[in-house]
Amino acid sequence: MKVKIAKNSGFCFGVKRAINMAMEAAKKNPKIVTFGPLIHNPQMVEKLEQAGISSVNAISEIKDRPTIIRSHGIKKDILEEIKKKGIEIINATCPYVSKTHEYARHLNEEGYQIIIFGDKNHPEVIALKSYVKGNAIIMDNVDDLPDKKIDKIGIISQTTRNIENFQELIKALVPKCGELRIINTICSATSIRQKSTLKLAKESDLMIVIGGKNSSNTKMLAKISSDFIETYHIELADEIEKRWLFNKENIGITAGASTPDWIIVEVYNKILKCIGNSQKQIHKVEDIPGFKEE
Ligand code: SF4
Repeated sequence: MKVKIAKNSGFCFGVKRAINMAMEAAKKNPKIVTFGPLIHNPQMVEKLEQAGISSVNAISEIKDRPTIIRSHGIKKDILEEIKKKGIEIINATCPYVSKTHEYARHLNEEGYQIIIFGDKNHPEVIALKSYVKGNAIIMDNVDDLPDKKIDKIGIISQTTRNIENFQELIKALVPKCGELRIINTICSATSIRQKSTLKLAKESDLMIVIGGKNSSNTKMLAKISSDFIETYHIELADEIEKRWLFNKENIGITAGASTPDWIIVEVYNKILKCIGNSQKQIHKVEDIPGFKEE
């Protein structure tokens, strides 16, 4: 039985950056808070809490403490209000997410009706929408197409969406408008993780996807994988059931961009234990076969 991990699994640049910024800031100021969870991984959020970094959900809860802005960003008016109060801000919004705010502003100025391809309830999309003057249309899929023709459409995407689904939507939008301006804001970390997951899913007879159940990019990996093969989305090693592994020759693992390395290592070791291979326990994610694959 072989166990392999998809290349590029786990933390992306934006998540690593946000965690490093938060940890550094906490060393200087133990009373620091994050506005909303820093990243979408409950275990990592718990670890940050243990380091003294608690999460608040309203300006009234900040109580003048230095505030870290999460990797997904926050609504423009909330950010401005925090600034106005003179509260120290450590802005850990991923630069790729900030870029989508700039694109939205730019398209607005040029008079385009903005369409955001994404989940209307996701914090990144809620924040992005706040940078649009007027009414942005949020579309989750082709079923949400506007009823009437729109003169000028400018479309951008939530950073963690799937490129093929974005293309499908664009194709469906063409007959619905006079002019269509497309800005591909899907982050390359997302696309790379999705491609490696798909590749491994095709080689495996079982896939374990690790990451927050509230993580949009992890859910997307689980969706991509489950379209091909039996797939389980877990947050922790304890969730693995021995019966899943029965009669499986090739087990694949992948992890979302906000999944910490230590959880991936625990999952790998738990799988080895379940299949009676405990002598090969590892300590670093880099040691899992496939992680460094060219
Ligand atoms: S997935 Fe991309 S956009 Fe999102 S935090 Fe990571 S690097 Fe930034």
